[in-house]
Amino acid sequence: MSRTTAVIFIGNNAAGYQRADAFLWERIIYDYGGVGVGGLATAGGIGWLVREHGLTIDHVRAVEVVLADGSVVRADATRHPEIFWAVRGAGANVGIVTAFDFEVDEVGDVGFAQLAFDASDTAAFLQAWGDWVVDAPRDLTSFLILGGARPGEPRVAQVMAVIDSDDPDTVLARLQPLAEAAPLVGQDVRITSYRAVISNASDETHAAEGEPTARTGLIGRITPEFARDAARFLDSGATYFFQLRAVGGAVHDVAADDTAFAHRSAEFSVVAFGSSRHQTSSQWNELIAPHVDGAYVSFETEQGDAAVEAAYPPATLARLRAIKAQVDPENLFRDNANVRPE
Ligand SMILES: Cc1cc2nc3c(=O)[nH]c(=O)nc-3n(C[C@H](O)[C@H](O)[C@H](O)COP(=O)(O)OP(=O)(O)OC[C@H]3O[C@@H](n4cnc5c(N)ncnc54)[C@H](O)[C@@H]3O)c2cc1C
Repeated sequence: MSRTTAVIFIGNNAAGYQRADAFLWERIIYDYGGVGVGGLATAGGIGWLVREHGLTIDHVRAVEVVLADGSVVRADATRHPEIFWAVRGAGANVGIVTAFDFEVDEVGDVGFAQLAFDASDTAAFLQAWGDWVVDAPRDLTSFLILGGARPGEPRVAQVMAVIDSDDPDTVLARLQPLAEAAPLVGQDVRITSYRAVISNASDETHAAEGEPTARTGLIGRITPEFARDAARFLDSGATYFFQLRAVGGAVHDVAADDTAFAHRSAEFSVVAFGSSRHQTSSQWNELIAPHVDGAYVSFETEQGDAAVEAAYPPATLARLRAIKAQVDPENLFRDNANVRPE
């Protein structure tokens, strides 16, 4: 059950609140508790407290895996360490994980903000949001969603942020710099449990249908050039859902070769959903791809060598191929971002 102990308000402009309120709360799609742990905890796992606590895979201490030959192994830092390394970032290629041991962090009540901004100056807002996130203490993690503008209305930016604090003053202090970046047209800020933030999964049967097209990449700090080209990408109509997720902070504390998720210096994951594969991909390739350095394997719908090479840098890919050759030489587990045996 949702438990809300305080509601607080911030901001510089309540005008337009009703319109943005309807837009935001009816259409919002954000991360939720229905995502499967199998895919999440073998690919990376970018959560609401990622800047403070790192990726889901950084909390995996052991796995039980069914390998291609039907054998079952328990892998951790000392037993089958290469399998344990590969499972954390490229697990789909290794086998089927049937059990995870997680080391968990205790989390109390948190600040949860859902904010809507007039992002008519899209590039300026992207820059301001990106700087705000990177310069914030690690107790703040934020995701940003942009889409097309409705006719006659400004583009609305939806910002979600979790602040690991139950102190309203701390939550306000974290949010206030962003509230001043653009006209704030909708807001809901509350102190609530982490469980309430994440307990938004539907009970309906999962249809197992992906988006028509999703392109993804990792970037460092938002540059003026990226902000300009992202605004052009949005203006082109190539995406109806353009999301940036913070992936810095504690993710950087793990060495690039500690897990098969090697992109440890990225600040943001960028995802674009589109309804036309050709249009989305051609605009992505022209405007966004030049700015990205690597990719998070989970959201990409384009398959093939380029996608695999984006997810796994050369040293990681070579190590994965060697492991694959040992544990799955016939490439049984290939319905994924497939690492072929060397
Ligand atoms: C609405 C939505 C929100 C999302 N939010 C987030 C988010 O906040 N953070 C984030 O990091 N990702 C997020 N994702 C992406 C998510 O991590 C991936 O879609 C993930 O693969 C889902 O896990 P799954 O178990 O459903 O995988 P599936 O879609 O079933 O499979 C995906 C891949 O994982 C492999 N796989 C699945 N289970 C196992 C297993 N037990 N052992 C080995 N390989 C396995 C499959 O073989 C396949 O290659 C989101 C996706 C959606 C649709």
